[in-house]
Amino acid sequence: MIYYLIGLFLLLNLNDLNKENEKQAEINQTPSLVVGIMVDQMRPEYIYRFWNHLGENGFKRLVNGGFTFTNTHFNYMPTSTGPGHASVWAGSTPAVHGVMGNSWYVRELNRSINVIEIPEFEAVGGTEETDGAKGPGNMLTTTVGDELRLHTNNRSRVIGISRKDRGAILPAGHTGDAYWYDGETGNFITSTYYRNELPDWLVDFNDLRLPAEYLSEPWETLYPIATYIESREDDNTYEGLIRGQEAPVFPHDLPYLMRDHGHNYGLLNSTPFSDKHLMRLAIAAIEGEQLGHGDVTDILAISFSAIDAVGHRYGPASKEIQDAFIRLDSYLGTLLDYLEENFGKENFLVFLTSDHGGLHVPEYLADQKIPSKRINFADYVPELRQYITDKYGQDFIIAGGAYELFFDRDYIESQGLNLGEVQKDIARYLLRFEGVAGALAAETLITTEFTRGIPKIVQEGFNKKRSGDVMIWLEPMKYPSGGTTGTGHGSPWVYDTHAPMHWYGAGVPHGRSAARTYITDIASTVATFLNSPFPSGNTGNPLNDYMKR
Ligand SMILES: [Zn+2]
Repeated sequence: MIYYLIGLFLLLNLNDLNKENEKQAEINQTPSLVVGIMVDQMRPEYIYRFWNHLGENGFKRLVNGGFTFTNTHFNYMPTSTGPGHASVWAGSTPAVHGVMGNSWYVRELNRSINVIEIPEFEAVGGTEETDGAKGPGNMLTTTVGDELRLHTNNRSRVIGISRKDRGAILPAGHTGDAYWYDGETGNFITSTYYRNELPDWLVDFNDLRLPAEYLSEPWETLYPIATYIESREDDNTYEGLIRGQEAPVFPHDLPYLMRDHGHNYGLLNSTPFSDKHLMRLAIAAIEGEQLGHGDVTDILAISFSAIDAVGHRYGPASKEIQDAFIRLDSYLGTLLDYLEENFGKENFLVFLTSDHGGLHVPEYLADQKIPSKRINFADYVPELRQYITDKYGQDFIIAGGAYELFFDRDYIESQGLNLGEVQKDIARYLLRFEGVAGALAAETLITTEFTRGIPKIVQEGFNKKRSGDVMIWLEPMKYPSGGTTGTGHGSPWVYDTHAPMHWYGAGVPHGRSAARTYITDIASTVATFLNSPFPSGNTGNPLNDYMKR
């Protein structure tokens, strides 16, 4: 009996030991490949609105087999592409990583710079004239990929790809490689910041001339247009035209439109086929670089841009956005099929999110009796300048727009004025204009720590050294634009801040959470999956505990 008990005791101990070993193995087991997918301007509702038209292996696979966060938000403004891509991969907000917009005014240069503009570099893979002065140097922190590279002594490969330069460059961080689309040639290119020649696999990929193929046929709906009952009628006054077009309707005659574009392959950017092109590039990159086949984890950052282009021109309620999304779903399905077949679900980790949301076309909302309006801030400028001239002797606004104003600080100082008081005065004055919801002086944002509400969101998008003198936000559904069709994003309101967040693959159970989470949580969550350090400016929190089996 005693031997039996000892035996049982040993057996139990051995069981515990095995469990402990298994746990250790699980902790040390990291996926071979991380594929981080961003869908530019994707509203999370698209998946559910178009559910009945989606395949089983794309977005539905993420929802049915992965973990979905349904209440994820951008926690800063402006909600735009540059800040979105930096915030996802750097795990912080513009206040920290310094990417305050797609471009911003620089006092020392007296002009605006593009977020990825770095003077000393040249294009690799375009033509003589291609602007390739591009790199990640305006981003002040590291990304998940940078930290993984440091962590693995550069054995991990990190690659960012996108139709947009900033959509590839910011996710690739300072130490990865980035490739983006050049409309002039129809090629994916890079800059001398990264390398002096394109890799062989990319030369081969460009030689396939896929853009010429995709633009040789009209863009028709994938399924009969009559079945697209989730979107408004095709012909309407809310939608913009592609140059050379007479009505914003299917079929969009791409071969005909190519003539109006001087046979420039940039036309691909206006169609969902730029996403198909990028999906093909993703697989070519995995194979060409043998990503996910080494001893350490590799990262591929993919940013799909078609939903953004189509959303801007036609709006979220359009037949075009419905078709573009259904097509993206099929490309995503092909990519996920490829990953499962070649790596197995336990060896790769996927996350999918966006870089910002988007507003319905204001005139469409207004016609639905919803109080939306296009606000042309330029209409306010003469009155504002007059007020400043009358009160302060000279107009001192040197740059800015509907979200931010820059003052001539030398002039203000020369008049013996207190800069903070002047900023506060202008912030208060702006409230008289229709559509302006609030404005904050830089002085207030520098000296006060906001903890909630819109001021907190404004502060997270405000960089103490780089931002302007007054930060402005408009009322919900007031869209700053001088146009008459289409729509956009950039506000601190929920239609712009609400983002999809899906996780799938290694270590990710099936589940769903409506806990409030932020876009800045993604980077440290990936790092936790990889046992890798967090980005240097990280302010988000890992979400891994939500995803326990
Ligand atoms: Zn974007």
